[in-house]
Amino acid sequence: MNEPILEGRQLTRRYPGRPHPALDGVDIAVRAGAGLGIVGESGAGKSTLLRLLLGVDRPSSGEVRFAGAPLARADGREFRRHVQVVFQDPRSSLNPRMSVAAIVGEPLRSLRVGGGRTERAERVAEVLTAVGLRPEDGRRYPHEFSGGQRQRIAIARALAPSPRLLLADEPVSALDVSVRLQIVELLQELVERLGLTLVLVSHDLAIVSQLCAEVMVMRHGRVVESGPTATVLTEPADAYTRDLLAAIPQLPQNLGWAS
Ligand code: ADP
Repeated sequence: MNEPILEGRQLTRRYPGRPHPALDGVDIAVRAGAGLGIVGESGAGKSTLLRLLLGVDRPSSGEVRFAGAPLARADGREFRRHVQVVFQDPRSSLNPRMSVAAIVGEPLRSLRVGGGRTERAERVAEVLTAVGLRPEDGRRYPHEFSGGQRQRIAIARALAPSPRLLLADEPVSALDVSVRLQIVELLQELVERLGLTLVLVSHDLAIVSQLCAEVMVMRHGRVVESGPTATVLTEPADAYTRDLLAAIPQLPQNLGWAS
Protein backbone atom coordinates (compact mmCIF):
# COMPACT_ATOMS: atom_id res chain seq x y z
CA MET A 1 0.00 0.00 0.00
CA ASN A 2 1.18 3.55 -0.70
CA GLU A 3 2.46 5.69 2.13
CA PRO A 4 -0.20 7.74 3.95
CA ILE A 5 -0.30 11.44 3.06
CA LEU A 6 -1.67 12.27 6.48
CA GLU A 7 -1.43 10.04 9.49
CA GLY A 8 -2.28 10.08 13.17
CA ARG A 9 -0.52 7.66 15.50
CA GLN A 10 -1.95 6.87 18.91
CA LEU A 11 -3.60 10.25 19.15
CA THR A 12 -4.88 11.16 22.59
CA ARG A 13 -6.40 14.51 23.54
CA ARG A 14 -7.42 15.33 27.09
CA TYR A 15 -9.23 18.53 27.92
CA PRO A 16 -8.57 20.05 31.34
CA GLY A 17 -11.20 19.18 33.91
CA ARG A 18 -12.62 16.34 31.83
CA PRO A 19 -12.51 12.85 33.37
CA HIS A 20 -12.26 11.04 30.02
CA PRO A 21 -10.05 11.89 27.06
CA ALA A 22 -11.94 13.30 24.05
CA LEU A 23 -9.64 11.15 21.93
CA ASP A 24 -8.03 8.01 23.25
CA GLY A 25 -5.24 6.32 21.29
CA VAL A 26 -6.61 6.77 17.77
CA ASP A 27 -4.68 5.56 14.73
CA ILE A 28 -5.70 6.97 11.36
CA ALA A 29 -4.05 6.82 7.94
CA VAL A 30 -5.22 8.77 4.90
CA ARG A 31 -3.85 7.46 1.62
CA ALA A 32 -4.07 9.11 -1.79
CA GLY A 33 -7.25 8.15 -3.59
CA ALA A 34 -8.87 6.40 -0.62
CA GLY A 35 -11.57 8.71 0.69
CA LEU A 36 -12.09 8.17 4.41
CA GLY A 37 -15.31 8.72 6.31
CA ILE A 38 -15.25 9.32 10.05
CA VAL A 39 -18.60 8.54 11.62
CA GLY A 40 -20.00 8.36 15.14
CA GLU A 41 -22.60 10.05 17.28
CA SER A 42 -22.17 13.54 18.71
CA GLY A 43 -19.35 13.70 21.25
CA ALA A 44 -17.49 10.71 19.76
CA GLY A 45 -14.36 12.81 19.15
CA LYS A 46 -14.65 13.37 15.39
CA SER A 47 -14.08 17.14 15.42
CA THR A 48 -11.26 16.80 17.94
CA LEU A 49 -9.56 14.34 15.61
CA LEU A 50 -10.04 16.65 12.64
CA ARG A 51 -8.52 19.59 14.54
CA LEU A 52 -5.45 17.51 15.38
CA LEU A 53 -5.10 16.41 11.75
CA LEU A 54 -5.34 20.06 10.65
CA GLY A 55 -2.66 21.05 13.14
CA VAL A 56 -4.89 23.68 14.78
CA ASP A 57 -4.83 21.71 18.02
CA ARG A 58 -2.09 19.52 19.52
CA PRO A 59 -2.48 16.00 20.87
CA SER A 60 -1.80 15.35 24.58
CA SER A 61 0.18 12.36 23.30
CA GLY A 62 0.76 10.68 19.96
CA GLU A 63 1.71 12.35 16.73
CA VAL A 64 0.36 13.63 13.43
CA ARG A 65 2.53 13.02 10.37
CA PHE A 66 2.31 14.65 6.94
CA ALA A 67 4.09 13.18 3.91
CA GLY A 68 6.13 10.91 6.16
CA ALA A 69 7.34 13.56 8.65
CA PRO A 70 6.00 14.61 12.06
CA LEU A 71 3.89 17.74 11.65
CA ALA A 72 6.33 19.83 13.71
CA ARG A 73 9.09 19.02 11.21
CA ALA A 74 6.95 18.94 8.04
CA ASP A 75 7.11 21.72 5.47
CA GLY A 76 4.44 24.08 6.86
CA ARG A 77 3.64 25.72 3.55
CA GLU A 78 3.30 22.37 1.77
CA PHE A 79 1.05 21.16 4.60
CA ARG A 80 -1.23 24.22 4.49
CA ARG A 81 -1.42 24.02 0.73
CA HIS A 82 -2.21 20.34 0.47
CA VAL A 83 -4.48 19.87 3.48
CA GLN A 84 -7.51 22.08 2.95
CA VAL A 85 -10.73 22.14 4.92
CA VAL A 86 -14.42 22.85 4.46
CA PHE A 87 -16.49 23.48 7.57
CA GLN A 88 -20.11 22.81 8.37
CA ASP A 89 -21.51 26.29 8.20
CA PRO A 90 -20.50 28.48 5.26
CA ARG A 91 -22.12 31.52 6.94
CA SER A 92 -19.52 31.63 9.67
CA SER A 93 -16.57 30.41 7.59
CA LEU A 94 -16.75 33.15 4.92
CA ASN A 95 -15.70 36.71 5.76
CA PRO A 96 -18.78 38.86 4.96
CA ARG A 97 -16.67 41.93 4.19
CA MET A 98 -14.58 40.27 1.49
CA SER A 99 -15.68 39.78 -2.10
CA VAL A 100 -15.98 36.18 -3.26
CA ALA A 101 -12.91 36.61 -5.48
CA ALA A 102 -10.88 37.87 -2.51
CA ILE A 103 -12.10 34.99 -0.33
CA VAL A 104 -11.32 32.33 -2.93
CA GLY A 105 -7.97 33.92 -3.84
CA GLU A 106 -6.86 34.36 -0.22
CA PRO A 107 -5.11 30.96 0.13
CA LEU A 108 -3.21 31.66 -3.10
CA ARG A 109 -1.97 34.97 -1.71
CA SER A 110 -1.10 33.75 1.77
CA LEU A 111 0.58 30.57 0.50
CA ARG A 112 2.24 32.38 -2.39
CA VAL A 113 1.07 29.86 -4.97
CA GLY A 114 -0.59 30.54 -8.29
CA GLY A 115 1.73 33.28 -9.54
CA GLY A 116 0.97 37.00 -9.79
CA ARG A 117 -2.27 38.92 -9.73
CA THR A 118 -3.38 37.93 -13.25
CA GLU A 119 -2.68 34.24 -12.76
CA ARG A 120 -4.45 34.34 -9.40
CA ALA A 121 -7.54 35.93 -10.97
CA GLU A 122 -7.52 33.21 -13.64
CA ARG A 123 -7.28 30.50 -11.00
CA VAL A 124 -10.16 32.05 -9.01
CA ALA A 125 -12.33 32.09 -12.16
CA GLU A 126 -11.36 28.49 -12.86
CA VAL A 127 -12.29 27.17 -9.40
CA LEU A 128 -15.53 29.18 -9.29
CA THR A 129 -16.48 27.49 -12.56
CA ALA A 130 -15.40 24.10 -11.18
CA VAL A 131 -17.90 24.43 -8.31
CA GLY A 132 -20.76 25.50 -10.57
CA LEU A 133 -20.56 29.29 -10.06
CA ARG A 134 -19.70 31.93 -12.66
CA PRO A 135 -16.41 33.84 -12.80
CA GLU A 136 -18.38 37.12 -12.45
CA ASP A 137 -19.75 35.90 -9.12
CA GLY A 138 -16.31 36.82 -7.78
CA ARG A 139 -17.40 40.46 -7.66
CA ARG A 140 -20.27 39.72 -5.30
CA TYR A 141 -20.33 39.21 -1.52
CA PRO A 142 -21.24 36.10 0.52
CA HIS A 143 -24.61 37.46 1.74
CA GLU A 144 -25.81 37.64 -1.87
CA PHE A 145 -25.71 33.84 -2.11
CA SER A 146 -27.86 31.00 -0.80
CA GLY A 147 -26.51 28.51 1.76
CA GLY A 148 -25.69 25.93 -0.90
CA GLN A 149 -23.93 28.51 -3.06
CA ARG A 150 -21.93 29.70 -0.05
CA GLN A 151 -20.77 26.17 0.55
CA ARG A 152 -19.69 26.10 -3.12
CA ILE A 153 -17.65 29.25 -2.44
CA ALA A 154 -16.03 27.58 0.59
CA ILE A 155 -15.22 24.53 -1.56
CA ALA A 156 -13.77 26.79 -4.29
CA ARG A 157 -11.52 28.46 -1.71
CA ALA A 158 -10.32 25.05 -0.51
CA LEU A 159 -9.63 23.92 -4.09
CA ALA A 160 -7.79 27.07 -5.16
CA PRO A 161 -4.26 25.99 -4.12
CA SER A 162 -4.74 22.50 -5.73
CA PRO A 163 -4.62 20.51 -2.49
CA ARG A 164 -4.16 16.77 -2.26
CA LEU A 165 -6.55 16.38 0.66
CA LEU A 166 -9.87 17.94 1.45
CA LEU A 167 -11.04 17.59 5.04
CA ALA A 168 -14.75 18.24 5.37
CA ASP A 169 -16.54 18.53 8.71
CA GLU A 170 -20.26 17.83 8.21
CA PRO A 171 -20.19 19.80 4.94
CA VAL A 172 -23.90 19.48 4.16
CA SER A 173 -25.63 19.22 7.52
CA ALA A 174 -26.20 23.00 7.85
CA LEU A 175 -27.81 23.12 4.40
CA ASP A 176 -31.41 22.75 3.29
CA VAL A 177 -32.23 19.15 2.54
CA SER A 178 -33.01 20.13 -1.06
CA VAL A 179 -29.44 21.30 -1.76
CA ARG A 180 -27.54 18.65 0.22
CA LEU A 181 -27.54 16.19 -2.65
CA GLN A 182 -26.18 18.83 -5.03
CA ILE A 183 -23.19 19.49 -2.77
CA VAL A 184 -22.59 15.76 -2.27
CA GLU A 185 -22.63 15.32 -6.05
CA LEU A 186 -20.25 18.25 -6.46
CA LEU A 187 -17.81 16.70 -3.95
CA GLN A 188 -18.06 13.37 -5.73
CA GLU A 189 -17.37 14.97 -9.09
CA LEU A 190 -14.37 16.90 -7.73
CA VAL A 191 -12.92 13.77 -6.15
CA GLU A 192 -13.21 11.91 -9.44
CA ARG A 193 -12.10 14.73 -11.72
CA LEU A 194 -9.30 16.28 -9.67
CA GLY A 195 -8.04 13.18 -7.89
CA LEU A 196 -8.71 14.84 -4.54
CA THR A 197 -8.74 12.64 -1.48
CA LEU A 198 -11.60 13.38 0.85
CA VAL A 199 -11.67 12.96 4.62
CA LEU A 200 -15.28 13.36 5.57
CA VAL A 201 -16.65 13.75 9.08
CA SER A 202 -20.34 12.99 9.00
CA HIS A 203 -23.06 11.43 11.04
CA ASP A 204 -24.83 10.65 7.75
CA LEU A 205 -23.86 7.15 6.72
CA ALA A 206 -25.57 7.43 3.34
CA ILE A 207 -23.31 10.34 2.38
CA VAL A 208 -20.21 8.56 3.67
CA SER A 209 -21.08 5.47 1.64
CA GLN A 210 -21.45 7.59 -1.48
CA LEU A 211 -18.18 9.52 -1.07
CA CYS A 212 -15.75 7.34 0.87
CA ALA A 213 -14.18 3.97 0.09
CA GLU A 214 -13.06 3.55 3.70
CA VAL A 215 -14.85 4.30 6.93
CA MET A 216 -13.84 4.59 10.57
CA VAL A 217 -16.49 4.35 13.29
CA MET A 218 -15.77 6.26 16.49
CA ARG A 219 -17.28 6.13 19.95
CA HIS A 220 -16.14 7.76 23.20
CA GLY A 221 -12.87 8.88 21.60
CA ARG A 222 -11.93 5.45 20.28
CA VAL A 223 -12.17 3.66 16.94
CA VAL A 224 -14.66 0.81 17.29
CA GLU A 225 -14.19 -0.48 13.77
CA SER A 226 -12.79 0.52 10.42
CA GLY A 227 -12.38 -0.86 6.91
CA PRO A 228 -13.93 -0.72 3.45
CA THR A 229 -17.23 1.19 3.67
CA ALA A 230 -19.16 -1.48 1.80
CA THR A 231 -18.08 -4.12 4.34
CA VAL A 232 -18.44 -2.06 7.51
CA LEU A 233 -21.90 -0.81 6.59
CA THR A 234 -23.29 -4.07 5.27
CA GLU A 235 -21.64 -6.43 7.77
CA PRO A 236 -20.94 -4.30 10.83
CA ALA A 237 -18.81 -6.26 13.29
CA ASP A 238 -19.56 -3.96 16.22
CA ALA A 239 -22.89 -3.57 18.00
CA TYR A 240 -22.44 0.23 18.11
CA THR A 241 -22.11 0.39 14.30
CA ARG A 242 -25.26 -1.73 14.02
CA ASP A 243 -27.05 0.76 16.30
CA LEU A 244 -25.85 3.68 14.18
CA LEU A 245 -27.16 1.96 11.07
CA ALA A 246 -30.46 1.12 12.74
CA ALA A 247 -30.87 4.78 13.70
CA ILE A 248 -31.20 5.77 10.05
CA PRO A 249 -34.94 5.88 9.35
CA GLN A 250 -34.65 4.72 5.76
CA LEU A 251 -31.56 3.93 3.78
CA PRO A 252 -31.40 5.24 0.22
CA GLN A 253 -31.59 2.38 -2.23
CA ASN A 254 -29.22 3.71 -4.86
CA LEU A 255 -25.96 3.98 -2.99
CA GLY A 256 -24.43 0.69 -3.90
CA TRP A 257 -24.86 -1.08 -0.61
CA ALA A 258 -27.80 -3.21 0.45
CA SER A 259 -30.11 -2.02 3.19
P1 ADP B 1 -17.85 15.05 17.82
O1 ADP B 1 -17.19 15.91 16.80
O2 ADP B 1 -17.79 13.59 17.48
O3 ADP B 1 -19.23 15.48 18.18
P2 ADP B 1 -16.01 16.32 19.69
O4 ADP B 1 -14.63 16.03 19.19
O5 ADP B 1 -16.60 17.64 19.40
O6 ADP B 1 -16.98 15.15 19.18
O7 ADP B 1 -16.05 16.10 21.26
C1 ADP B 1 -15.50 14.96 21.92
C2 ADP B 1 -15.57 15.18 23.44
O8 ADP B 1 -14.68 16.21 23.81
C3 ADP B 1 -16.94 15.61 23.91
O9 ADP B 1 -17.17 15.01 25.17
C4 ADP B 1 -16.81 17.11 24.06
O10 ADP B 1 -17.67 17.60 25.05
C5 ADP B 1 -15.36 17.26 24.47
N1 ADP B 1 -14.78 18.53 23.99
C6 ADP B 1 -14.62 18.93 22.72
N2 ADP B 1 -14.01 20.12 22.64
C7 ADP B 1 -13.76 20.51 23.93
C8 ADP B 1 -13.13 21.64 24.54
N3 ADP B 1 -12.64 22.65 23.79
N4 ADP B 1 -13.05 21.67 25.88
C9 ADP B 1 -13.54 20.67 26.64
N5 ADP B 1 -14.12 19.56 26.14
C10 ADP B 1 -14.24 19.47 24.80
